[in-house]
Amino acid sequence: MIDLGTDRRKWDCEGERPSFFVLHSPFHDFPFSFGLLTFCIMAAKIIDGAALALALRDEVARRIALLGQQGRAVQLTAILVGSTAAGELYAERQRQACRAVGINYELRTFPADITANALANEIQKLNHDPAVSGIMLHLPLPGHLDATAMQYQIDPVKDVEGVNPANIGYVVYGHTLIAPCTALAVIELIKSTGVSLRGAEAVVVGASEIAGKPIALLLTEQMATITLCHIATRDLEQHTRRAEILVVAVGKPGLIGAEAVREGAIVIDVGINRVTQPDGTKKTVGDVDFELVKEHAGWITPVPGGVGPMTVSMLLKNTLRSAELVLPDRDLL
Ligand code: NAD
Repeated sequence: MIDLGTDRRKWDCEGERPSFFVLHSPFHDFPFSFGLLTFCIMAAKIIDGAALALALRDEVARRIALLGQQGRAVQLTAILVGSTAAGELYAERQRQACRAVGINYELRTFPADITANALANEIQKLNHDPAVSGIMLHLPLPGHLDATAMQYQIDPVKDVEGVNPANIGYVVYGHTLIAPCTALAVIELIKSTGVSLRGAEAVVVGASEIAGKPIALLLTEQMATITLCHIATRDLEQHTRRAEILVVAVGKPGLIGAEAVREGAIVIDVGINRVTQPDGTKKTVGDVDFELVKEHAGWITPVPGGVGPMTVSMLLKNTLRSAELVLPDRDLL
């Protein structure tokens, strides 16, 4: 039997960083000891991903300005195959996010029937273009193109999404160059609670290449003890109920209810689902039943406003990282 009260106090006191990004707790202003004593029976603290994301963008903007002073311009070139309204809108939002931190954003759109060879050639040209510091490929691609094969074409140093298999490999070997954005976002959100990841019991639900597997890898790198669950997992709740850190990345609204979550756990909801409400209007929700789970989790990310904005900021941070790796440092010339 787990002594949850003791466990919880240990977590709160072992925090390595002040959790000033953890907002909206009704007990935020209470004296620490009182907050601690009452905390176990009260609702979760909401991890404000939007606030964390803004702070990270400020830091990225500051470092990009420093590069600019050295005459080093940062350029992210995004590739869109087949022009769709959704793809163009997404790209426009990316352009705005880049502009806000001083990154030049260029969108290259190619016809939907471009061949794999022609697209690979275009990527190679960008790899060799010194003006381009970062490259990303908008997904999904048309059916005749293999996304992984195309991502493999991107120079690992310019791979701002961290999706080239080489970059995943570097993470495995503990020599991370550029890691996948969503996984980095999840780690930052967990760290913002101040709870130590070392030795923590972490359960990741969902094992895709883009989300679950990289998240599990980065948690392992942080010395957490990992269980990775997926569609074939027998008795999912048996695993989720013992998680001190629960990350859910599946794409099924309401998959995780209150009974599936351990008291006091950190719950990170990666899922993004559009659902129709009883009145016919649409709403974006995660995979976790937020209203019920927040009553006894320790910390929880909302959807929207949790992992999503942090992932965008991580893309900007990775673009900065690429630029620092790629662009010549004038002081060294
Ligand atoms: P995916 O469909 O590629 O993978 C889903 C994973 O969930 C698979 O590993 C599958 O085995 C597992 N799964 C399915 N049903 C399950 C069940 N009942 N129990 C346990 N595991 C189950 O999806 P994805 O691309 O990884 O995306 C997952 C969700 O995360 C989606 O809602 C997506 O929109 C969202 N997402 C968000 C971000 C972000 O930045 N916030 C980034 C990527 C994905």
